[in-house]
Amino acid sequence: MRLFDMHCDTLYECENGGHRLLENNLQIDLTRGLRFEKWAQVFAVWMPDTIRGEAAREQCRLMLETAHNKAVDNRLFKIVYDQSDLEHALDNRLCAAILAVEGGSALAGRLDTLNLMAELGVKIITLTWNGSNELGHGCLSGCEDGLTEFGINAVKEMERLNIIPDVSHLNQAGFWDVMKYTNGRIIASHSVSENICSHPRNLTDQQFCAIRDRGGLVGLNLCKEHLGEQTFECLERHFEHYLTLGGEKTVAFGCDFDGTDIPPEWGGIQVMEKIYEYFRRKNYEETLIDRLFFGNCYDFFHSALTSERSMV
Ligand SMILES: [Zn+2]
Repeated sequence: MRLFDMHCDTLYECENGGHRLLENNLQIDLTRGLRFEKWAQVFAVWMPDTIRGEAAREQCRLMLETAHNKAVDNRLFKIVYDQSDLEHALDNRLCAAILAVEGGSALAGRLDTLNLMAELGVKIITLTWNGSNELGHGCLSGCEDGLTEFGINAVKEMERLNIIPDVSHLNQAGFWDVMKYTNGRIIASHSVSENICSHPRNLTDQQFCAIRDRGGLVGLNLCKEHLGEQTFECLERHFEHYLTLGGEKTVAFGCDFDGTDIPPEWGGIQVMEKIYEYFRRKNYEETLIDRLFFGNCYDFFHSALTSERSMV
């Protein structure tokens, strides 16, 4: 089985708990992930809403540098800058690690932080976490305003630098501003369907279809509150619903390992093998299952990572 997953908070958990990436008792480590035939994983640097300004920028920079140090110490962890890195890692059974920042507070309200992030290999920025920051307002912030002026400038600059805006966690008005002020690829890295489970973190059908029409991706997460029930059957209901919206090439995984609690018997990333078997037993076509677990992300990132960056 091949896995390309769009969201985890493992870097933060490793850093905070002093765990090793190679082997740990968290939900993801390299030893378990590399049992899959191929494995690409987006590793997010999570920014709590409480840390702001230069302190946020500095914390993010340090976490990204720590990720690069891990890649030097452990050759199984390959940070992907471009298409050839991605292919090299996947062909050589390394963890193809794509770096992301979860929470635009890391910019500290400075557009030039985006250049720093691009240099450090950041390919995705989740614009907000649940609260408000300099760019806009999260879905649990209680604020219904759209992106701020800085947020609008930031998404335009991200587009220029080929950093993908991630709309998971963002409120409705902010989402539609992203659609208005950008033309390129966007993702919702870890968001399930509001139609199946009503939750402010979940995507409405209109949002899903807007992302689909952009050629973007939506990652299914494993969070109990978002799914409704934390079962394979319920995960399938969200998947099925996205399929009814024409999402065959849009839907992927963004499990949120090390960012959400999962049943102890699932353990961690190793549960993906069981979910894969579950979908096979349900008689989905093999090619569709592979799209969900790997192919849609691979096609998307393969293309996103080869695009010319205008000026970096
Ligand atoms: Zn999240």
